[in-house]
Amino acid sequence: MKGAFYQGNKRFSVGDSPPRPPKAGEVRLDIAYGGVCGTDVHIYMGHMDHRVKIPQVIGHEMSGTVAEVGKNVTDFKVGDKAIVRPLIACGSCPACRAGHYNVCHHINVLGVDTPGCFQGSWTVPAAILHHLPDDIDLKLAAVIEPTAVAAHAIRAGEVTAKDSVVVIGAGPIGMLVALEAKLKGARVIVSEINPFRSLLVKEFGLEAVNPQKADLPAYVADKTGGAGADIVFEVTGLAPGAAMMTRLARTRGRIVIVGIFAEPAPVDLGRAFLRELRFRGVRLYEPQDFETAIPMVASRAVPFDRLISDVRPLERIQETFAEIERGANFMKALLKCGD
Ligand SMILES: [Zn+2]
Ligand SMILES: [Zn+2]
Repeated sequence: MKGAFYQGNKRFSVGDSPPRPPKAGEVRLDIAYGGVCGTDVHIYMGHMDHRVKIPQVIGHEMSGTVAEVGKNVTDFKVGDKAIVRPLIACGSCPACRAGHYNVCHHINVLGVDTPGCFQGSWTVPAAILHHLPDDIDLKLAAVIEPTAVAAHAIRAGEVTAKDSVVVIGAGPIGMLVALEAKLKGARVIVSEINPFRSLLVKEFGLEAVNPQKADLPAYVADKTGGAGADIVFEVTGLAPGAAMMTRLARTRGRIVIVGIFAEPAPVDLGRAFLRELRFRGVRLYEPQDFETAIPMVASRAVPFDRLISDVRPLERIQETFAEIERGANFMKALLKCGD
């Protein structure tokens, strides 16, 4: 079996990655496809070298099939299609004791803190596996993980059909937040500066506004009878998004922070005071978000296949990351990990 090892300094090597037999309570999976996530790009850029043990197989968005089952595993059998929820919580910190395992203080994110899925075979605890329907397309199934991230954001934002929603940033997660908000029946406006992504937003039947060319706060006010949006999702993790988000929300509106802010960004708290805004951060997902995302993807509730820009053999991982770094027109890139 092969694996793609992050070597530091924007380098991967593809080489032999021997399968590890499952211990009690574990399952060994044959990986079909691995999706490239923004987090993986951060690893490639060296931003997470303090967490990754170089050389390490990274990757946490995947789909696969059960190849081997360890002792005491009763709910999975060889041949089952499955997906990993790539989090292992410590179980004993204050967040875990409160039942908030996705924000565990000592969380192990598989593919970051421990080996990931950009390899032919991956051995993981059965407790973090979810069943997939037998007839699901394993390419589409590789986008369940980001769909679950968006499902968690939609749940935290309490989106309903009555709401007007603005999504700032239409990368894969922002796009999925926008599409899932639309599925809820909400009216959705997407803020995006990249023409390739804006075009895709429009092809999905959503409104796209370029905040560098149009007056986005005025546009949102106009579309909401002067009120502002009920819910604003910040999905860029960048300062312009943080500066913009408070200008778009209505009185007592909600702001949901989905983007990963690597640097602190200024926020207009005066506006938060004036409008009594509510802020909510969302991170990763809980098991129920996978249970929402799996049937959503399996039933093709939105055209998920159009989010997949390309499917490539694992051997092309180096050039794929280089292209994404250069800002090539990519939404989601999939790597074929199996034979
Ligand atoms: Zn991800
Ligand atoms: Zn914990």
